[in-house]
Amino acid sequence: MLCSVCTDEIHQGDEIKCVKCYEFLHFNCSGLREANFRKMSKSLKEKWSCSNCKVKKVATTPVLTQPITDETLQNVVDAVNFMSSQFDDFSLKLKQLISTVNDLKNENKRIVEENAFLKKEMNVTHRQQRPL
Ligand SMILES: [Zn+2]
Ligand SMILES: [Zn+2]
Repeated sequence: MLCSVCTDEIHQGDEIKCVKCYEFLHFNCSGLREANFRKMSKSLKEKWSCSNCKVKKVATTPVLTQPITDETLQNVVDAVNFMSSQFDDFSLKLKQLISTVNDLKNENKRIVEENAFLKKEMNVTHRQQRPL
């Protein structure tokens, strides 16, 4: 196995495994003193986590960078009030838009049908005009 810190081969008995990232390290690369490492019980080694993982654990603690103030809340309330006052107008406009689109759809359908009819008429005319 290779040490995740110095990437050198670890000799049997010199390794310590991180319980979080499952990486093997030399005990001296993990910051442990040899005397302490030799004294560590098997169960203690099984619970050991590397300094990287210990740091990560602290870093993931949620930190409120922006405290919620009364002013922030008031801004949200104002925004919601503004939106709802705009909404009636908006939904009316949307209805008008939908009915316009439907009108256009019907118009388009009529034109397509008319086109198909004219094409058929033209084909008939062509065939009739073609010399036998
Ligand atoms: Zn190492
Ligand atoms: Zn780790």
